[in-house]
Amino acid sequence: MKQLPETFGALVFDDRVMKSMLPAKVYASLRHTIDENASLDLTVANAVAAAMKEWAVKNGATHFTHWFQPLTGITAEKHDSFISPAPDGGVIMEFSGKELIQGEPDASSFPSGGLRATFEARGYTAWDPTSYAFIKGKTLCIPTAFCAYGGEALDKKTPLLRSMQALNRQAMRILKLFGNTDVKCVKTSVGPEQEYFLIDRELYKQRKDLVFTGRTLFGAPAPKGQELDDHYFGVIKPRVQAYMEELNEELWKLGILAKTEHNEVAPSQHELAPIYTTTNVAADHNQLTMEIMQKVALKHGLVCLLHEKPFAGVNGSGKHNNWSIATDTGVNLLSPGETPYENAQFLLFLCAVIKAVDDYQDLLRIAVATAGNDHRLGANEAPPAVVSIFLGDELTAILEAIEKDEPYQGAEKEVMKLGVHALPKFKKDATDRNRTSPFAFTGNKFEFRMLGSANSISCTNIMLNAAVAESLKIYADRLETADDFETVLHEMIRKTIKDHKRILFNGNGYDEAWIKEATEVRHLMNLRTTPDAIPHLLDPKNVKMLLSHKVFTEAELRSRHEITLENYCKAVLIEANTMADMAKKEILPAVSGYCGKLAAVAAAKQAVLPNVPCAYETDTLDALSTLADQIAERTSVLKTVTGIVKAIDDVKQQGYAIRDDLLPLMDELRESCDKAETLTAKEDWPFPTYDDLLFGV
Ligand code: ADP
Ligand code: MG
Repeated sequence: MKQLPETFGALVFDDRVMKSMLPAKVYASLRHTIDENASLDLTVANAVAAAMKEWAVKNGATHFTHWFQPLTGITAEKHDSFISPAPDGGVIMEFSGKELIQGEPDASSFPSGGLRATFEARGYTAWDPTSYAFIKGKTLCIPTAFCAYGGEALDKKTPLLRSMQALNRQAMRILKLFGNTDVKCVKTSVGPEQEYFLIDRELYKQRKDLVFTGRTLFGAPAPKGQELDDHYFGVIKPRVQAYMEELNEELWKLGILAKTEHNEVAPSQHELAPIYTTTNVAADHNQLTMEIMQKVALKHGLVCLLHEKPFAGVNGSGKHNNWSIATDTGVNLLSPGETPYENAQFLLFLCAVIKAVDDYQDLLRIAVATAGNDHRLGANEAPPAVVSIFLGDELTAILEAIEKDEPYQGAEKEVMKLGVHALPKFKKDATDRNRTSPFAFTGNKFEFRMLGSANSISCTNIMLNAAVAESLKIYADRLETADDFETVLHEMIRKTIKDHKRILFNGNGYDEAWIKEATEVRHLMNLRTTPDAIPHLLDPKNVKMLLSHKVFTEAELRSRHEITLENYCKAVLIEANTMADMAKKEILPAVSGYCGKLAAVAAAKQAVLPNVPCAYETDTLDALSTLADQIAERTSVLKTVTGIVKAIDDVKQQGYAIRDDLLPLMDELRESCDKAETLTAKEDWPFPTYDDLLFGV
């Protein structure tokens, strides 16, 4: 067997391969493109394509694809084979620089949210040389951006790359002001921690709700849930262990730095975390990771559930977006420095994040808004829908001291002034015991915890990068024209703390009292559901900011507004239909059949023992008959209302109707059915129950 260092990245056209296969000049030119976003010419592309093809064919590939991330949230690929006919009747394997750089998939079936009405229907894909090509199965996959012919982004990668550039532009201005002239560029890095459930495939197949919607729409709680906390970090079962081992191997071959794995809080729930990397690569890797998690599970007779809330009553699954900003010279700008000057620079970047998160709370909330994630946020298992920042006690005390121009008790008895002297060298406090905060500083990075497990991390990072770029721009504009740099810097930091301290909260984010304080006293936004959140995407302040940094065009924003709401509506409407179907075709016949059995037993018993009341049979029969009527009634109401909601043309109004009318009816129907489940014999219940699913692996 090969050792890990040999297999790691074996299926990736990475730096090692490029260095060994490309002519030195081509390699240098490509590296320049990758590291500094320089543009790339066709001769270089031709040389790269030739090497890529040779390497891919040697590794068993027969096809290539432009691999991209349309607005469906999952990845897309269309395979072309390398072959072209040769005059002698055989074939040769061909792949040109042009084919590497640009492709033309038929864009018409991907969601465009109205972009197609305004622009040409065709789309094209464009190579992203900053994310390495890789082999999946027999196909060379080339990470690409996906755009309409007018240039409008039809994907999630394009705005992500733009947001990284926006942040780079503004951060470079700031670094220059601090005298960092050797830095060539600034990039953000992300390490996403990914939660998921594993359940038995045979059981999964018997549940239409899981198959059609990814979550259970019915199910009474199992006698045991997560109350003992015995699953968290517990011993990993052999079947799961085998799965994780194979998953790691597959990920490693693709150059994905899968690092930690453990059991999560809920039964059958697990987590995988990679080592952090450049944001757009992390986004590609996370999409690939989710895909491979699901594929490998099938090989083990399992199904990997990535839905945010597959089971009621136990924790759902999220994703933590660990984010930092670093220079190409290796300096993490969110790491407190060694000297007061470095610390002043750190504080400015910290303030930029604080200001960004406060000013654009709604954009961060929007980035994680899906029907599935609405079940988690604020349900005492994930951060609330209110965005706030945890900084920890020490950093908070430092900021307070700066704001009040008071001595910081950790330092010498001196009023803290930024710049040349007196800013204390503070300890880097990497201990973050607060798991309830949506946005926590963890020593040298921020951890955003509102993402749902199935979310693309691109959305979050687009908004985060753009919002921070905006803060930095405001700072740079002011500082570049300052007569006295240090005084202005100090005043700006003070002002940020003063204006934005309302977003700082170190307490328990799950506490009801916090939501009250956050909304009533601090006036933070509480966008509880997707239909509440998404319309804010088009608020003038958001449009203005995103346009000014060239992260989105107005048409692109409108299209995302449309598509996100549409996805929400479609998801819930499918759930409603599935519920009605299961209630009518599976639950009601089962309950009715069991009632028949009870009635028969009661009648038979009474024929023999006329004086025995048969309380169990008759009471259960009574309760179940009443419930069956209720289920039938609720199913029929649900069906009617689903039809009405479905007919609403305006997607925003449809979203509101789903939130206000449809979801409550679904809850009611579920309640009756779950009650019926607890009264029906196990063998008569038509599909696997929570005990089976959660403890079945
Ligand atoms: P936790 O206590 O939340 O599990 P870890 O230290 O294990 O924290 O890190 C979680 C994730 O954060 C990992 O994916 C890790 O690679 C990532 N991470 C660590 N440092 C950074 C950084 N500077 N920038 C971005 N991500 C980071
Ligand atoms: Mg974490």
